[in-house]
Amino acid sequence: MSSLEQQLVARIQENGPISLAEYMSECLLHPEFGYYSTRDPFGQSGDFVTAPEISQMFGELLGLCLAQCWLDQGAPSPFALVELGPGRGTLMRDLLRATAGVTGFHQAMQVFLVEASPKLQREQAKALEEYDVSWVAEPMELPNLPVFLVANEFFDALPARQFVRDSDGWRERLIGLEEGKLGFGLGSATDQPALAYRLEDTRPGDLVELCSPAATLLEPIADRISTFGGAALIIDYGDWRSLGDTLQALRAHKSTPPLENPGKADLTLHVDFEFLAQSTKSTGCAHSRVTPQGVFLERLGITERAQALSRALQGEALDTLIAAHRRLTHPEEMGNLFKVLGLYPAQFSPPPGLLS
Ligand code: SAH
Repeated sequence: MSSLEQQLVARIQENGPISLAEYMSECLLHPEFGYYSTRDPFGQSGDFVTAPEISQMFGELLGLCLAQCWLDQGAPSPFALVELGPGRGTLMRDLLRATAGVTGFHQAMQVFLVEASPKLQREQAKALEEYDVSWVAEPMELPNLPVFLVANEFFDALPARQFVRDSDGWRERLIGLEEGKLGFGLGSATDQPALAYRLEDTRPGDLVELCSPAATLLEPIADRISTFGGAALIIDYGDWRSLGDTLQALRAHKSTPPLENPGKADLTLHVDFEFLAQSTKSTGCAHSRVTPQGVFLERLGITERAQALSRALQGEALDTLIAAHRRLTHPEEMGNLFKVLGLYPAQFSPPPGLLS
């Protein structure tokens, strides 16, 4: 048993079952044993590959999309350029390189990164050493400025709870002990006001997921966009409304049972984009339609960008570029599985590539 597993078993023995959200927080962010605190999960040698690690085109196009929003809003100065969960810092580095030619953009920006893992903060500092960047613990701490933000595969890593509908309410899926090992069970039926709207589309036995931290993190961002201007591009796998168990554990590019090896596998859930959009409602911020990543990148000109890059390449490097373009956009690869949601001030148009 790993040390984190021993700690979790001891805690459950003493205090009873824990929620999936508590389990995820410990597995991902425990200071000593947490997945993001202890390892570099990205790339071929890690557990998964994210879009910015596949090709520079991803960060470049997102950067130019945000820069166009900034120009369309009258080039406000100063403004906050923000990334949630920047991983290795690759996306932000590509974004900054691509926007260096946009007159006034770099002069007006203040770069803020929201990153929970001290290990990844150090990697980000290294990747972005040419730039002046600051870290904030949460979006609440961002200054009162226009916010231009990107978040790729951030919301899928946030701790969520799962509930199974029952004739008398919702029973939470909890993690307890089965013969001394971690196992799933159900709590007693309770009222869940936050899930009242799911009574329409669910039946007894159905499972729904609730990621409250997503709403807490997004609200101050939507509030700034609505009040001061800006735009947010949120990219993740998921759909407009999620139904059923989407919890997934990945280790060395393979799926593993989520309660095995706590802290050693990446844990994610599909993002419920409807929940994200609803959580910004009270701020008056507008949101785009949820758009497949492949469609969004094609609209932003990824094919033209790939053609331009291809002119300087041949052999293996050219094959890699062609494969990267396909991987990011093709419906059978990441093109359809990943979706994009844009946030923007209600008096403006949605970011380029997205529709209202
Ligand atoms: N955006 C990057 C990395 C995605 S992985 C990419 O596309 O490659 C998720 C990132 O979010 C990691 O950097 C992780 O450490 C960070 N993270 C996870 N939970 C967080 C939280 N609650 N607060 C801040 N950062 C978090």
